[in-house]
Amino acid sequence: MRRVLVVEDEDSIRDLIALNLRMAGYEVLAAGSAEKGLELLDQSSGCDAAILDLMLPGMNGFSLCETIRRDDNDIGIIILSAKSMEQDKIRGLSIGADDYMTKPFSVSELLARVNALCRRVGRAAGQEKPVEESRLVSGQFVLDQKSRVLYKNGESIDLTQVEFQIMELFFQNPGTALVREKILEGVWGDNYYGDVKIVDVNIRRLRMKIEDEPSSPKHILTVWGYGYRWNG
Ligand code: CA
Repeated sequence: MRRVLVVEDEDSIRDLIALNLRMAGYEVLAAGSAEKGLELLDQSSGCDAAILDLMLPGMNGFSLCETIRRDDNDIGIIILSAKSMEQDKIRGLSIGADDYMTKPFSVSELLARVNALCRRVGRAAGQEKPVEESRLVSGQFVLDQKSRVLYKNGESIDLTQVEFQIMELFFQNPGTALVREKILEGVWGDNYYGDVKIVDVNIRRLRMKIEDEPSSPKHILTVWGYGYRWNG
């Protein structure tokens, strides 16, 4: 059974999310604080996804997100915030969240996003699509689809699932300009309603990880007004 961690200090919202997830067949670990959430996560054998509120008593959602991501590249993380500020969204995504929702949100849309995230994690674990090619090579980079690890000159680079899937898309389309909407659709799924800025944020994060000089990228090139092109 898919397991989801929900950390939200407002009882009514936490109960609503937990109830809906359980009805959809998920096992739910619900916590009212980051500290409690980490404790539950520790006691479990890991979660497929986590839904984290930003404004929490004690440790906040940003720190929680960073802490969880440090130990687990596979878990899908959705951040919830009452603030609609773009900066929060960017910050959340840049520290390892996969998705972001602003309160008030629709529970059915949240469920759709959890489903999409879990499908990706499931795919990573080989539960859905079998991987035909296991290693994709591009210049000094090797993408090992079996172990989901990217190597640059033989050194492994830690990627989140989303980052890994963007790299897969690039490796499968070398030298091709990919429009941002196509990247969004290829990685987040075609019924994802979020905006294409999430692509830019993930690209920025990827550049920090794989480029020698992230500010003047040599591998993930910007195609102005369109999207990105991979140069291996
Ligand atoms: Ca809160």
